[in-house]
Amino acid sequence: MCGIFGIYGHPEASNHTYLGLYALQHRGQESAGIVSSDGIRLHHFRQMGLVSEIFTRETLKRLPGRSAIGHVRYSTAGESDLKNAQPFVVNYSRGALAIAHNGNLTNASLIRNRLESGGSIFQSSMDTEVIVHLIAHAQGKTLIERTIEALSQVDGAYSLLFLTEVEMVAARDPLGFRPLVLGTYKGSPVVASETCAFDLIGARFEREIEPGEILLINEKGMKSFKPFPRRRLHQCIFEFIYFARPDSFIFRHNVYEVRRSLGVRLSKESAVKVDMVIPVPDSGLPATLGFAAQSGLPLELGLIRNHYVGRTFIEPEERIRHFGVKIKLNPVKELLAGRRIAIVDDSIVRATTSRKIVKMLRNAGAKEVHVRISSPPITDPCFFGIDTPRKSELIASSYQVEEIRRFIHATSLCYLSLDGLRECVKGEEENFCYACFTGDYPAFSDG
Ligand code: 5GP
Ligand code: MG
Repeated sequence: MCGIFGIYGHPEASNHTYLGLYALQHRGQESAGIVSSDGIRLHHFRQMGLVSEIFTRETLKRLPGRSAIGHVRYSTAGESDLKNAQPFVVNYSRGALAIAHNGNLTNASLIRNRLESGGSIFQSSMDTEVIVHLIAHAQGKTLIERTIEALSQVDGAYSLLFLTEVEMVAARDPLGFRPLVLGTYKGSPVVASETCAFDLIGARFEREIEPGEILLINEKGMKSFKPFPRRRLHQCIFEFIYFARPDSFIFRHNVYEVRRSLGVRLSKESAVKVDMVIPVPDSGLPATLGFAAQSGLPLELGLIRNHYVGRTFIEPEERIRHFGVKIKLNPVKELLAGRRIAIVDDSIVRATTSRKIVKMLRNAGAKEVHVRISSPPITDPCFFGIDTPRKSELIASSYQVEEIRRFIHATSLCYLSLDGLRECVKGEEENFCYACFTGDYPAFSDG
């Protein structure tokens, strides 16, 4: 996963991009970068780490110009390495081109092999780089023509921003997997993965970039292109369940409202007699509020989170991940001793976190620990940008709910049903991708 941000025609472009990335930090903590244009050439700065660690007044000063794009990265394709940090920048026969990508292409290696046997030399192991090569190879005269030519060859998920010396392009794949929103800030167009980035800089949300839309932004203004045939949408339902920030508006909904309704629905499906319901912070909180309101159970903060550690899951190394849970969460013993509790979390992926949390709560004296999950069992990997790479690592791919309950030592375990999930986006349920819960992947031309 990743977050992207861009602004065109504003004197403080890189400063605002920095702020936009700050608001999108939850979408990727591995590396960050900004590319700016002063109208003549591109300037870039990329580094491993968090936005707040990477950029200083000095580094931002070295990113002059009135346009900029930025990226926060959470590796899904390509290793965790500085050469894979984005935005990716190249100089080719027609000038400089920077690209920031959120998503995951499904036919990248196929295209890459073809290009490499034709003599192309790749600098990174990112799927994103194939788009750059396709644009460089394209016949079209204008950037927009070349972009359309390139994007018509790639499959999968992409929300993209391109920056040249004089133009910016925003594009969203025809199935609309990843969000991308358009706003204005003091007359300048801004584009971001989520609206929370607009809120921080004080930009006005205008609309979502449509699936299949390519937006060209230059001195003359904005022009929208829709060159691809209409397809059934596959917006990522997991953005609502876990990924996006609750204060954002994406896929025509406020994320908080959807997340809370998942909890309401979960409570209707799997009522439980306990003394209190406890959220697994922070991602489980909105669903827990819905669960508590619907069930009438008291909500207590029985798990306290240390806010100065990143999301545990992010660390690619197993060893670090395991240590992560204890670093991040601690139970309130006085609240739990002898009590029957239900905890609500948004999802179970490997079940390593939930297992430790249940153990932690039992050690703190909880008599019963009922686990409620505001999404269905994740049985299949995502090939469209969410970091669940191997099927064998997903506990629900090989174990039934009762076996998972035993593995995490819960008194009871209930997941939200797929119907329940669909109910929460009623009227638009056909516009979402549920492949991680069903294995039902959208088909592309290359299979
Ligand atoms: P598990 O119990 O399966 O080890 O971990 C579940 C926890 O991981 C949940 O609290 C959920 O919020 C979180 N989670 C689910 N998907 C992702 C993801 O893609 N990235 C990160 N960082 N956390 C995730
Ligand atoms: Mg969580």
